[in-house]
Amino acid sequence: MTLHLATLNFVSIVMLAVSAAVMCLFGASSRVYRGYWWWTGAQSLLAFGLLAYALRETYPLLLPVANLLLLQWPIVVLAGMRRFYVRHAWRVPAVADWLALGAAFGVWLATWLAQGSIAARVAAFSAGSCGLHLYAAALLARLPDFRSSSALKALVFVEAAAAAVQALRVVQAQAGPFGLLLRDEELIATGLVVVVSALGMVYLGLRLTSERVEANLRLTQRKLRVLANMDPLTRVCNRRRFHELAARTLVSIDASRATLMTFDIDHFKQINDLLGHAVGDEALRQIGRCTRDTLRELDVAGRLGGDEFAVLLPQTSVADAMSVASRIVARLEHRQVAPRIAPLSLSFGVVQLRSSETIADALRRADQALYEAKRQGRGCAVSASGAEDQPVFGESRRLGLTSL
Ligand code: GH3
Ligand code: MG
Repeated sequence: MTLHLATLNFVSIVMLAVSAAVMCLFGASSRVYRGYWWWTGAQSLLAFGLLAYALRETYPLLLPVANLLLLQWPIVVLAGMRRFYVRHAWRVPAVADWLALGAAFGVWLATWLAQGSIAARVAAFSAGSCGLHLYAAALLARLPDFRSSSALKALVFVEAAAAAVQALRVVQAQAGPFGLLLRDEELIATGLVVVVSALGMVYLGLRLTSERVEANLRLTQRKLRVLANMDPLTRVCNRRRFHELAARTLVSIDASRATLMTFDIDHFKQINDLLGHAVGDEALRQIGRCTRDTLRELDVAGRLGGDEFAVLLPQTSVADAMSVASRIVARLEHRQVAPRIAPLSLSFGVVQLRSSETIADALRRADQALYEAKRQGRGCAVSASGAEDQPVFGESRRLGLTSL
């Protein structure tokens, strides 16, 4: 079966027009990103280019228009990519893309105006087209998303295939063993590549858009998870997440070798009243940071509400937990918020967990120790042992730089 050139040209125009229409319809009815309309534009201009090319015999002046529209595709697609990937990190400025297009078209135009041979004109056009496709492929392959995006890889493949076909045409026009005998076959091959690329661009445009939608969705889910689990002020777990994580941790550790510590800011109401809520918030923020900086990866910290925090410390004795409390306070002293007006101090309650004890039960006992620390004058850590209804409090440990 042989392909009739005029028929192929007609089919190519129709397919390009349909592909541009599909992209337009999709773009009008769905969420698309910056750059999408440039890809649609490249498709539409290509369709007009083929149409102008088909009419060149009747209207010879349409030939330069046709060739410019046929050459623009890689550059206009690239212009879309520059907008789609705002953080593309290319050192080459956008103006270089258009200068490259101008140079490729200029070379062909000069050959045409000089009334060069058909072989020279084919070689000039194909060399320019080959260069533009390679230029676009080289830039696209440098995008940070290239490794992870199958659509981008496919686009680079399409650009490379188009460049290869144009390179073959240059060779054939210059030194082809069959002279210009295979001109029709070359045009047919070029036409087929154009059609495949055009259909490929529809797929790529939709694929890149859906990849972006999926990536944004994943990001939103991650943000929502953080918002649902983290206290935004102190950046430690919120109450619900603390209970969930602590209970999950308890399953995998030896509970009898873990301690639970609660702590609370002393006279925090006064800090708010004297210095305002913004300073109070800053104090909470600093406490969150000092706590996070002091703890290990396996510890679980949470803000239970107001100015009260809790920390689960696996593989930690009560004495070690007291040292952790001292370290948090020492860190905080370096970051005191308006220390002379209202010095920040913390009171701690510490309990050793019992096997099969729930976090809620242990928290109640730790709170008893915390209240005892408040009763003993604040700014100290007190441990509790014994049953909840008959707690036995250990020695109080004063906290501050001097206690280290
Ligand atoms: P105590 O030494 O007995 O703990 O005295 P206190 O003044 O700290 O009393 P309490 O712990 O009961 O007070 C907690 C205060 O924390 C009450 C409220 O005004 C303040 N607070 C709670 N949440 C926030 C917050 O998100 N930001 C600020 N700035 N203040 C808060
Ligand atoms: Mg308090």
